Amino acid sequence: MALFGNKGVHQWRGVIDEYRKWLPVSDATPVISLREGGTPLVHALYLSKLLGNEIWLKVEGTNPTGSFKDRGMTMAISKAAESGAKAVICASTGNTSASAAAYATKAGMKPVVLVPEGKIAMGKLAQAIAHGATLLQVKGNFDDCLTLARQLSDNYPVALVNSVNPYRIEGQKTAAFEVVDMLHEAPDIHVMPVGNAGNITAYWQGYQEYYKAKISKQLPMMWGFQAAGAAPIVKRKIIKNPETIATAIRIGNPASWDQAVIAQVASKGLIDSVTDKEILSAYRLVAAKEGIFVEPSSAAGLAGLIKKKAQRKLPKDKVIVITVTGNGLKDVQWVLNGAGKPIVIPVDLKRAAKVIGLK
Ligand SMILES: *Cc1c(COP(=O)(O)O)cnc(C)c1O
Repeated sequence: MALFGNKGVHQWRGVIDEYRKWLPVSDATPVISLREGGTPLVHALYLSKLLGNEIWLKVEGTNPTGSFKDRGMTMAISKAAESGAKAVICASTGNTSASAAAYATKAGMKPVVLVPEGKIAMGKLAQAIAHGATLLQVKGNFDDCLTLARQLSDNYPVALVNSVNPYRIEGQKTAAFEVVDMLHEAPDIHVMPVGNAGNITAYWQGYQEYYKAKISKQLPMMWGFQAAGAAPIVKRKIIKNPETIATAIRIGNPASWDQAVIAQVASKGLIDSVTDKEILSAYRLVAAKEGIFVEPSSAAGLAGLIKKKAQRKLPKDKVIVITVTGNGLKDVQWVLNGAGKPIVIPVDLKRAAKVIGLK
């Protein structure tokens, strides 16, 4: 049915329609989109001075469900719809479930999500419930949830939309396209948190595709940072019981482990780890100094750059893009924990001015 309201005013159309020729879709693919992508690349003045480089933040928290996961989910759900799926399943540390629930609902499918009991942020839990997901809290960690989700999709008629689903990576690579489209070149270094390692895989793929098509003249070094308590790639071994406050990267056996190492080696980049303390400090800094509120996991990339600077291992005067992966509103307890007592006053001009410090 033709849409009465569509008068052709320009608005970002979502990653499939904006980057159609780069994606495995056809006219037979029903596009299920919430107009994801088109996220701001914000120049970070304070961080540029602090780090001695030109720092840009790719703010993925402005996606429809508040994280970069929507880029991959529009692809995964559109392809699931094309194949006639009626139900989709995913394992999640929170953001994948929020995204899967929203896109599946939009497609008229039933979303089922498996999350580790007690280890996902309240905002994300609320999203999955709000969008009507069947939510199973599993007595195990993310890796256990993924194993169970895989088994369910192997044995029952339900499509798996985790990032082992290749369409997720395809959708997520569009973030690299957006960076190059905006800067007219790939950055020197691209920095991001690494959990299941789908995103670093996707960015590397996107940068390579643009490079091969001669849209960019260079490839960036890929720098990934894991949480110290969940750093299997850095330690080169599976972590049985990963622990970090950065729940979105609390993963001990990343599904895209090999691809992440390929991206690191081929780009002459690095994969290192940062402590929870370093993550929380970067998390507070980016909110307080740049006006961008991210969730703790999202600050791992910045934490990594600050660590490299302290170790004198950070080059100077490079163009560096940091992906901040998710919205701070999803997981507010880390701000409120350190906030001190609220200031309560009567309705009184003089008292208010005094408390504020106005003279
Ligand atoms: C999923 C997620 C990550 C980790 O991305 P991977 O592709 O699993 O490496 C980091 N931050 C946020 C906010 C996420 O939702």
